[in-house]
Amino acid sequence: MAYNKIEHYDEDITEKLSYHYKEILQLLGEDPTREGLEKTPLRISKAMQYFTQGYSKDAKAILESAKFHENVSEMIIVKDIEIYSMCEHHMIPFYGKAHVAYIPNGYITGLSKIARVADVFSQRLQVQERLTSQILEAIKETLNPLGVAVVIEAAHFCMMMRGISKQNSVTTTSAFYGEFEKIETRSEFMKLISAELH
Ligand SMILES: [Zn+2]
Repeated sequence: MAYNKIEHYDEDITEKLSYHYKEILQLLGEDPTREGLEKTPLRISKAMQYFTQGYSKDAKAILESAKFHENVSEMIIVKDIEIYSMCEHHMIPFYGKAHVAYIPNGYITGLSKIARVADVFSQRLQVQERLTSQILEAIKETLNPLGVAVVIEAAHFCMMMRGISKQNSVTTTSAFYGEFEKIETRSEFMKLISAELH
């Protein structure tokens, strides 16, 4: 199926979600009939469906769609992939950056596909640890590379807004497979992702 960028919302689901969000507004002490809130339940319903669209997307199919035979065995790094997700404990956003690397074993994929795989798993209810390992697994299983590394640095609004940790604290998670389990390869990767390019 060709990639379809047109936003499509299931009418039945949108209607049901809107109904419930209207109730939620009321329960929170708001007046959902006042002008500013009139269309809010509908807007949240669409926004939530957009934020969770990853459930209907297949990361491996995305990688397969641009899988090419290529005899390179150098580390390929995609740095600073923007991540926008929602924590599954509070349904409150967390955002940050993912850095992904792999060492091919005969096959490569389009660089933009790596970023799209990060989107597929970000656009679900998540914990940062699982998001990290799901990106790794999808690349590992599709490209059968010699190694994969994923590092995610993210700030969680559920911690920041509830005053649980300092405002600027960033959570870092990582997952390594194959060659990256070796200290030398891993530290080369860590050095490359933390280096400023000039
Ligand atoms: Zn949370």
